[in-house]
Amino acid sequence: MNKKPIIGISGNFIMDKGGMFPGYKRAYVNDDYVKAVAMAGGVPYIIPIVSDEDLAKEQISNVDALILSGGYDVNPLIYGEEPKQKLGAILPERDKFDLWLLKEACKMNKPVLGICRGIQLMNAAFGGTLNQDLSYDENCYIKHLQETSPSTAGHTVEIMEGSRLNSILGSKITTNSFHHQSLNRVAEGFKVTAKAKDGTIEAIEKNGENFVMGIQWHPEMMSSSSPEMLNIFKELIKNVKKV
Ligand code: MN
Repeated sequence: MNKKPIIGISGNFIMDKGGMFPGYKRAYVNDDYVKAVAMAGGVPYIIPIVSDEDLAKEQISNVDALILSGGYDVNPLIYGEEPKQKLGAILPERDKFDLWLLKEACKMNKPVLGICRGIQLMNAAFGGTLNQDLSYDENCYIKHLQETSPSTAGHTVEIMEGSRLNSILGSKITTNSFHHQSLNRVAEGFKVTAKAKDGTIEAIEKNGENFVMGIQWHPEMMSSSSPEMLNIFKELIKNVKKV
């Protein structure tokens, strides 16, 4: 029997607000990532945050591809900036962990899909910078933190010809939008593959053979209603190398 590719989804922490153990830390991912991977034909695995680099590398060696999931803001110290007033909550422990996962996945030539925080982390990891809040980008006039349901498309996105993303989604789509930060300087070795009308970067791809893609919106939240968005996950899975 041909085994389905194992898709690791980077985990997050959540603290219990009430119940039996207030403040108790739990490892989790949003269920939409799990569902999208399963629907796209992969085997979803949650990769829980660990504090040991060797263990994180072992985690990567046990999956065929990596999804860097959404969540906290990236610590600006990673890209050489002090925190500005409108920076949101950060979780340095998770930054460290995600960087280990990403670097190891790239080293092992495993496909990577970064979503929301994932694209931001990816850009920072390879030397790029972020706008700590969209209000610091004078060109940004679109509402990127929509207040409608996650499956609703909020704004249009234009996708560059010749990119991997263009071959999946075509040149113009509408996406949801749940970010208050954006990419500023793009990391060397990456190209911008999608933008909103105000110039906000919505997707990047790493140059080279391996599939390393970052997306600013949340395709996993639209995947059950939009076959196009599910195709992003199918493409990630298709790019798993059969050894
Ligand atoms: Mn957006």
